Amino acid sequence: MRPIIIAANWKMHTTPADAGALAALIAARTDDPDVVRVLCPPFVCLAAVRDAVAGRSVEIGAQNIHHERTGAYTGEVAAQMLVGLADWVIVGHSERRRDFGETDALIGEKLARAMESGLRPILCVGEQLVDRESGQASEVVRAQIHGALAGHEVSGPIVDRLVVAYEPVWAIGTGRTARGADASAMADTIRATLAELGWGAAVANCPILYGGSVTSATIGEFLAEPAIDGALVGGASLKPDEMAAIVARAGVTARARRNAGA
Ligand code: PEP
Repeated sequence: MRPIIIAANWKMHTTPADAGALAALIAARTDDPDVVRVLCPPFVCLAAVRDAVAGRSVEIGAQNIHHERTGAYTGEVAAQMLVGLADWVIVGHSERRRDFGETDALIGEKLARAMESGLRPILCVGEQLVDRESGQASEVVRAQIHGALAGHEVSGPIVDRLVVAYEPVWAIGTGRTARGADASAMADTIRATLAELGWGAAVANCPILYGGSVTSATIGEFLAEPAIDGALVGGASLKPDEMAAIVARAGVTARARRNAGA
């Protein structure tokens, strides 16, 4: 059975002075053993968040890594530097694809670095509005998955660790969300693409999240879809009330799926 995961992408918000208190509050208000909670603060807040949630079974994620192991890359952070600070890493977020020109091939290299350092990657994929309106959404996401995963051995650790977040670009930070049925159809496309890459039965174990303006008011529509295993939450993840309600809803789903043997 796949876990239900709620991952919080804090983006470029919080400071080392306030991130710990926010993390501790969210941890206390989302204490549900049936939901995997992942907080992804900025790099400089990782240590404060780790210390603040110690012993609370909240997992920590980074928002990015560099695609090389080490070298003359001023201002960058390598995967190996995160050991002891983070268990997870977001890779290929659309804001990085847009603002830093990250390609699928480069994202594939980042996945490799994540594997080497024992991190669990959340690989973000998603189409632009123009792609959806022209009926190309599935093909765009399929190409992103192929481009990022082509170089990875199917027998390697990625099969056990990969989480994919379907994040339609037009839904991120806009207040617009995909429909649950469309997100579910895309999750099917993602699993079919992993099957094309030779994942076989392991396809069924890969959690797929939805991301894009998720709030406590919209999370239910996505968790009602059996193909969706949680959410990557941006703006709402900085609000303890929202996180409490989102994780509470996720807990209900986790228990219902367990009881149904899903
Ligand atoms: C995100 O940052 O991945 C995201 C989905 O943001 P938001 O929830 O604010 O749209």
